[in-house]
Amino acid sequence: MLPLIFAATCDLSGKVRGKAFPADQLEKRLQRGVGWTPTNVQINCFDGIAESPFGALGDLLLIPDPAAEVKADFGERSEHFMIGDIVTLEGDPWAFCTRSILKAALARLERVAGAQLLAAFEHEFQLRDETRLVGEGYGRAGFEAERALCETLMAQIAAAGLTPDSIMKEYGVNQFEVVIGPELGVRAADAAVIVRELTRSTASHLGKAATYTPIRDPASVGNGVHIHMSFVDGEGAPLTYDPDGPQGMSALTSAFAGGVLKYLDSILALTAPSVISYLRLTPHRWSAAYNNLGFRDREASVRICPVTAKDPASIARQFNLEYRAGDAAACPHLALAAIVHAGCQGIEEGLEASEPTEEDLSLLSAADLDARGFVRLPETLDAALEKLSGNEVVAGWLTEEFISVYCAHKQSELDHVKDMDTAARCAAYEQTY
Ligand code: GLU
Ligand code: MG
Repeated sequence: MLPLIFAATCDLSGKVRGKAFPADQLEKRLQRGVGWTPTNVQINCFDGIAESPFGALGDLLLIPDPAAEVKADFGERSEHFMIGDIVTLEGDPWAFCTRSILKAALARLERVAGAQLLAAFEHEFQLRDETRLVGEGYGRAGFEAERALCETLMAQIAAAGLTPDSIMKEYGVNQFEVVIGPELGVRAADAAVIVRELTRSTASHLGKAATYTPIRDPASVGNGVHIHMSFVDGEGAPLTYDPDGPQGMSALTSAFAGGVLKYLDSILALTAPSVISYLRLTPHRWSAAYNNLGFRDREASVRICPVTAKDPASIARQFNLEYRAGDAAACPHLALAAIVHAGCQGIEEGLEASEPTEEDLSLLSAADLDARGFVRLPETLDAALEKLSGNEVVAGWLTEEFISVYCAHKQSELDHVKDMDTAARCAAYEQTY
């Protein structure tokens, strides 16, 4: 067998695509990459191709990054991939490369606040096989039934250079939650891709199938992706916490949260990007339905998380904001880029986070919500795309061209499921994610 390395990109569909090359060519490939095609970006999650401004024209390079390398050894078989950047033949970042889009957002954060982002993705997934771990929400027996999967997955996560934090049998049928430690900058989004890929590979190695679909059954809860964020300066000193700030938020954190909440309805199509994502984003599912800030409230779209540390220095390091309106149909790079841009916008506009809510917002009338500055988040992908394409500020961050290509991409996904009922849609998504 000739050992191969797979050069990978996580694209607009949130899928990981790429090409493999012989491992002994690595040195050359780190310079010249593998050939890539612009229209690939319009391959949707159902294998359809959306309308593309590029047609059959153009050439790009996908350059693997050894900092995002994964070698997973499953005994009788192994996997080897590297996430990379897509560049033009001239070597410039390609405008539709999700990783480059995130790098630009992080550079903006550095510019406007002198801050670097630490982020940790908390993921929920479900096993699609027959075993129905019913009545096992947070259960020990449910966990033990899949201990081999959990231990294999956590070992692979550690072998990939990431920090396993915790894993559990979540509330839903056959649902698990896997958490890793924070990573700096673009690596946090790479890590999210790696966790998803390793989960699917681990399950398949054990003869099972794992799905990261946003929701399998509207009668139950969804699979969320919660993004925990904190800020550090160039020396790694924490910038997120201020004991005298509102709920412990530093001015930077409050402004960042203010921006995310203000632009949330317009970035939702990037963080919750599937048709069925909107079945999950409804009240009473511990997901997110309004643009509210919560203090330890799991029904808020942005939550100020509890800290367990006792001494001031550790509290300052542990303090973090959690974005809850995301799922794994989203490319982590694109989702994080949208959140960071919204946060930067908040900093530039001098916003402050709204008062944390401590009540069930679904009980308020539209007029009451409006009077208090809350919006019900878009309730369909169509509505979310309309918000995205109608927001000039967001277009300023991501470019008009990007938004138009993204909306066309998503339109092809909408068209694919338009004649399906809810059950058929859920089935289609659980197969692809
Ligand atoms: N399953 C919930 C979601 O869809 C999250 C539950 C939790 O708080 O972990 O976001
Ligand atoms: Mg959970």
